[in-house]
Amino acid sequence: MLMQVRGLSKTFGGLHAVEDVSFDIAEGEITAIIGPNGAGKSTLFNLITGFYRPTAGSVTFKAKDITGHPAHRTAQAGVARTFQTTKLFEHSSIAENVLAGCAAGSRSTLIDAVFRTPRHRREEKASMDKTLELLEFTGILEFKDEIAANVPHEVQKRAAVALALATEPELLLLDEPAAGITEDETARFGQLIRQIVARGVTVGLVEHKMSLIMSLADSILVLDQGRRIAWGTPEEVRSDPRVIEAYLGA
Ligand code: ADP
Ligand code: MG
Repeated sequence: MLMQVRGLSKTFGGLHAVEDVSFDIAEGEITAIIGPNGAGKSTLFNLITGFYRPTAGSVTFKAKDITGHPAHRTAQAGVARTFQTTKLFEHSSIAENVLAGCAAGSRSTLIDAVFRTPRHRREEKASMDKTLELLEFTGILEFKDEIAANVPHEVQKRAAVALALATEPELLLLDEPAAGITEDETARFGQLIRQIVARGVTVGLVEHKMSLIMSLADSILVLDQGRRIAWGTPEEVRSDPRVIEAYLGA
């Protein structure tokens, strides 16, 4: 297993946002996390990626315990994520945004940068090459010089994915990547997610659009009020009475 989550819990005051959740993320697969608003999906991602510290439970990544590690360490270990609300540098260009993700993994120091050492220039060139490759890969190369705030929502969503991929993660967690985009755009986003897996990156996906989930996911974790109510293949989950009652509604 690439990631094992065991008994993970998070309380905010008296609220059990995530309660005793266990599941695995298998390497090379797409694991979807679904559930109604407020079910604890984003909190689960925040716990896994070190943005929140769990109240109880553990997270293991590549057989190493990463429970409670801060976000930058988790990122260095190979876990990247996007946010439900896209976090781009709004006043920078699309290329500059992705370049910032590349720089996060750079080994040059401030001294290297100030004196423009050969190492720094080499890394700068490599970062630019990687940025262009990722913009091409995510299908937004034509927007590279546009200011992030000015491009269509779909392009912003794709740029957030490119930015996350720039850190060369082994596991990419996408929090509602298709929120607020059209059906056609969503279908194309599904294609992109498949290509990400083909690239060798394992994907965890929080999403509301059931068409996307059912066509993409290898396994699905269903949360309701912070608790796991089902975990299995799309077929298993779809026919689970608790899921139908709590989430699918009919
Ligand atoms: P989802 O992503 O499934 O819609 P969230 O994980 O965002 O749900 O939220 C789960 C619950 O935890 C909600 O009741 C939400 O209000 C609460 N919550 C999330 N983050 C915080 C926080 N930082 N402080 C207090 N309550 C929070
Ligand atoms: Mg959420």
